Amino acid sequence: MNENNVPEKAIEMVDVNKWYGPLQVLKGINLSVDRGEHIVLCGPSGSGKSTLIRCINHLEEIQQGAINVNGTRLGHKGANADHVRRDVGMVFQQFNLFPHLTVLENCMLAQRRVRKASVAEAREKAMRHLQRVHIAEQASKYPAQLSGGQQQRVAIARALCMDPKIMLFDEPTSALDPEMVKEVLDTMISLANDGITMICVTHEMGFARAVAHRVIFMDRGEIIESGTPEAFFGNPSHERTRAFLSQIL
Ligand code: ADP
Ligand code: MG
Repeated sequence: MNENNVPEKAIEMVDVNKWYGPLQVLKGINLSVDRGEHIVLCGPSGSGKSTLIRCINHLEEIQQGAINVNGTRLGHKGANADHVRRDVGMVFQQFNLFPHLTVLENCMLAQRRVRKASVAEAREKAMRHLQRVHIAEQASKYPAQLSGGQQQRVAIARALCMDPKIMLFDEPTSALDPEMVKEVLDTMISLANDGITMICVTHEMGFARAVAHRVIFMDRGEIIESGTPEAFFGNPSHERTRAFLSQIL
C-alpha cells in the first residue's frame, strides 16, 4: 500500500500452482502487474493461458501460492471472490452474451442485479458504453441479429458497465471472421489508451506492438519469457519462444 491506501499493484501472483487432477497446468507462476499496465499473454494451445487469467477472477481455484487483486487476497476456498470480481471485467472468445436479451438488456442486467442500479441509471450507462464501442444504434437488437465483431463489442461494453479496474481478454478475436478482427482490436486499443489495466491472451502481434507494455510467453504451465514488444519480437532469448514466434509471425 502507498500513503493513499491504494494498492501499488493491480495484480500480484506469487508462486501459483494449479492442478486439474493429476495434471499440473500452472507451475510456479510469478506475475506482478502494475496499475495501468497492458500485458499480452501468448503461447501454444494448452500452455495454461486461459487457466492463468481465469484464476485472477477466481473462475478457477488454485492449490498453492497467492493471488492479490487490487490489494485483496484471493483465498483458497473462494474467499473474497465476489469482492475481486467486482473490479475485474472479462471478455471471452465466444462473446457469451445472453441470447434472449437485447443488446441494451445485456448491458443492464448485471448493473441491476449486482450493483442495484435503477433502470434509468443502468440504461444511461449502458448507452454510454455502447456509444463508446460504436454500436449504440443496435441497442434494441438481439445478439443473433449482430455480426461476431458487433457481438464482441457488445461484450466489451457490457463488461465496462461494471466499471472494472482490470480487464481480462481471452482470445477475443479468435472466433471472428478476419474482416471483423480490426473493429474489435481498435476498440481494445482505445480502451488501453484510456489507461485501464489489461491482460490480453492473443496472438495478434500487431495489437501487442501497439499497446503492450510487456509480452509474456507461456509454455507447459510456465512463464518462459517476458519483455517489451521490441525485445520480445526482436530478440527473444529462449529457443521455445523463437520456435513459437516462427510459427505465428
Ligand atoms: P490455453 O488457454 O493456453 O490453451 P488452458 O489453460 O485452457 O490452456 O489449458 C491448460 C491445460 O489444462 C490443458 O492441458 C487443458 O487440456 C487442461 N485443462 C483446461 N481446463 C481443464 C479442465 N476444466 N479440466 C481438466 N483439464 C483442463
Ligand atoms: Mg485458452
